Amino acid sequence: MTTTTQADAYSNFINNEWVKTASGKTITSINPATKEAMGYVQSSSVEDLNNAVEAAYNARKVWRKAGQAARGQLLFKTASILEENLEDIAQSMTAEMGKTLPEAKGETARGIAILRYYAAEGMRKEGDVIPSSDSEALMFTKRTPLGVVGVITPWNFPVAIPIWKIAPALVYGNTIVFKPASEAAVTAAKVAECFAKAGFPEGVFNFVTGSGSVVGQGLIDHPKLNAITFTGSEQVGQNVAKSAAARGIKFQLEMGGKNPAIVTKDANLEQAVEAVINGAFKSSGQKCTATSRVIVEATVYEEFKQKLVEATEKITVGNSLEKEVWMGPSASEGQFNTFNEYVEKGKQEGAKLIHGGEVLTGEGYDNGFFVKPAIFDEVTADMAISQEEIFGPFIGLIKAADLSEALELANNTKYGLSASIFTSNINSILEFIDEIEVGLVRINAESAGVELQAPFGGMKGSSSGSREQGEAAKEFYTAIKTVFIKGN
Ligand code: NAP
Ligand code: MG
Repeated sequence: MTTTTQADAYSNFINNEWVKTASGKTITSINPATKEAMGYVQSSSVEDLNNAVEAAYNARKVWRKAGQAARGQLLFKTASILEENLEDIAQSMTAEMGKTLPEAKGETARGIAILRYYAAEGMRKEGDVIPSSDSEALMFTKRTPLGVVGVITPWNFPVAIPIWKIAPALVYGNTIVFKPASEAAVTAAKVAECFAKAGFPEGVFNFVTGSGSVVGQGLIDHPKLNAITFTGSEQVGQNVAKSAAARGIKFQLEMGGKNPAIVTKDANLEQAVEAVINGAFKSSGQKCTATSRVIVEATVYEEFKQKLVEATEKITVGNSLEKEVWMGPSASEGQFNTFNEYVEKGKQEGAKLIHGGEVLTGEGYDNGFFVKPAIFDEVTADMAISQEEIFGPFIGLIKAADLSEALELANNTKYGLSASIFTSNINSILEFIDEIEVGLVRINAESAGVELQAPFGGMKGSSSGSREQGEAAKEFYTAIKTVFIKGN
């Protein structure tokens, strides 16, 4: 990410106008498969951000009064525009952060479905009637918007995550300022274009790109902000929480994970291998729900390990725009370096690298951030590779004597986002559901995988405890007014 001046950079969208930052500075987005520039966005100032918050603040009343049904109609329109642009947006995502094209198309299709899900919320109930102890009175609840909501998102799902925040925020009557991750801001700008074309009233949807320390910090510190929704690293999330708590505004954080998969002695090993590989290596392991620790019962440990390595050897790595490629590059130089550092750390800590872990070189690889998925054997719970989020194609194998030790190991982390178990034993399944300290509990299924109509979020250090998506989003994006009416 460098800062230059580019005439063809995407602009900010503030108060229904596409505007450039006064300094003329831009951020360059790099294609991780080629290290070439693939687009530019504004490197905005705090003034730009302030203009966006001011616009959102001024639009609050008009948008609230537009009514939920009319707001939903505009989301339906946005969904259709996104659908017309699916191919272009997916191509941009792949070029910007290396996710394979089928995954990028799937994510964009998910974005469209999320928009339609929340668009339909426009026609659903806004409250409940509650019996009053006064028989002559009417008592009911009415959901009301919060006001101006700040949206800060990561680069790993540049379409789905912004939409699963923005769509409910808007339908429930909030105005928003969206600050995307710089590493995927070109794709985010294309999503912003879809909202812009849908024709929301002035100031309802605002989009500002720029560094986290300037635009992101400026947003969370802005006195006219009423709520902030953040997905990203734990470190930045804690900072968001401190600032929001100090000012008494609502906040929601979804952060990292160190997601375990338990393979028991009665697992279907073929199923477990396939799900572990998909969970750990799709999107180059750069999903918050990616599998990174695989805890295997001793009696099937060697057999599972052998099958896992055999299957991993078949993975094809390369430029994600090519059809036969299963795994693309690391999303950026930073991600690439982090992966390499953890491979070295694993070796130093005494774990045994049994597959991959090296930088890929030669034709098609030399110009990109390509690595071979890593599998470490003999990993123990105290190692850094067992505790810290790596966010790369990296599996640590841990041996457990039985299910109860496996569960203890699985919970031995500060995170609690997602976890899988592979077993055919109903008692093990029930114990897992009961004991595991995560928000997403997956039985005979990969740790990564979400459905837009179900609540999504983590426990412990992975989340602020709130939930996104499905009906759960309403809890964050609205406040409840309890109304009591009596005649005279
Ligand atoms: P990140 O570095 O924390 O960045 C997230 C967002 O915060 C970006 O838009 C970033 O802007 C911004 N930011 C950075 N510093 C800031 C500051 N001081 N104040 C306000 N905003 C600031 O995370 P990332 O590298 O983009 O994403 C990877 C992380 O996200 C991983 O930890 C992953 O587990 C987590 N994640 C969690 C979920 C979930 O739902 N639980 C989903 C996806 C990802 P810049 O890009 O300009 O720095
Ligand atoms: Mg990039």
